[in-house]
Amino acid sequence: MSCDFIQRAHPGVRELHPYQPGKPTSELERELGLSQIVKLASNENPLGCSPRVIEALREAASEVHRYPDANGFELKKALSHHLGCGPEQLILGNGSNEVLELLLRTFVTSDDEVIYSEHAFIVYELVTQSLVARAVKTPAREWGHDLEAMSRAITDKTKVVCIANPNNPTGTLLDSDELYQFIKGVPPHVLILLDEAYGEYLEPSARAPSISWLGEFDNLILCRTFSKAYGLAGLRLGYAVAHPRVADLVNRLREPFNTSLLAQAAAIAALGDSDFIEQSFELNRVQKLRLESFLQELQVDYISSHGNFITLDLGQPAAPFYQALLALGVIVRPIAGYGMPNHLRVTIGTEQENQIFMDALKRVLKLAENDG
Ligand SMILES: *Cc1c(COP(=O)(O)O)cnc(C)c1O
Repeated sequence: MSCDFIQRAHPGVRELHPYQPGKPTSELERELGLSQIVKLASNENPLGCSPRVIEALREAASEVHRYPDANGFELKKALSHHLGCGPEQLILGNGSNEVLELLLRTFVTSDDEVIYSEHAFIVYELVTQSLVARAVKTPAREWGHDLEAMSRAITDKTKVVCIANPNNPTGTLLDSDELYQFIKGVPPHVLILLDEAYGEYLEPSARAPSISWLGEFDNLILCRTFSKAYGLAGLRLGYAVAHPRVADLVNRLREPFNTSLLAQAAAIAALGDSDFIEQSFELNRVQKLRLESFLQELQVDYISSHGNFITLDLGQPAAPFYQALLALGVIVRPIAGYGMPNHLRVTIGTEQENQIFMDALKRVLKLAENDG
């Protein structure tokens, strides 16, 4: 069989490397016959989601034969109230992943350049490649974005600059004033895509007043998600806040029913439970400190993180450590695809999950020592 048509597929797609998701718990269960598995691989909320969400989902279940509201009127109303923006500034997506893709597809053609940083969230690269646009990857500074390098990389052909703040998988955070000065210096014809997927995990004093910047910079777009602190990763709901004309344009490309009826109902309920976000923040704060002191004791290097995860530097290829942890029923995330083959990213879990991870890591490191 010749499959000649494969050679004729869109070149941007043919050359893509598939996204490597965290290993699902069910898969490891099947492979190892283990029953107690701890998944700390996808930065999900270890507390689950708000009980109000479960209630809202139960109620909405009787409506699933209906199409969702294509414009997400009620959710946009709740979001605009929550954020202090206009509903016409919002773009809803099937996860912020889809929103990022829609934004880039709306503006970027194969003649254009997209700037992003080394070790930044991989979706920027995947979408840029799929569009056969020119990817301009600036070198990282201390594992984070080098804003000066990003400024210098801007040309007449630059359409979008992507910034993840905090960044995944490194957890680095840009200083709010430096970020503001950077945005101010970006020419008005270049869009800035500021991805704030982990914003809820920041100490209030570290949060950039990015919503208020939208009034000043028409070319600024904020991207956020319900997948992380809100605990709705499985429902897929993300959004962008942008200039109304940007939102209007992207909403033309967006397919009408891209966010489900259940996801919309859940997100509205999630926004109504600020206590749950507060609890999630607090658990993460306390458990991050605990993990950090454990790593210091063990003399394992790590990148100081502003998200709900920590990235460890094992000082040697991390793949065998990943495998050894899997064998003990602990799923973490290898990030060689981010140009970080010696690192592993670990989501901060519950106290108990973290204990299991720490015990497993200790065992695995001891084994490696004895082997070496
Ligand atoms: C997890 C993540 C997202 C996307 O999450 P969705 O589930 O698609 O909303 C976006 N940006 C960053 C930096 C992330 O880590």
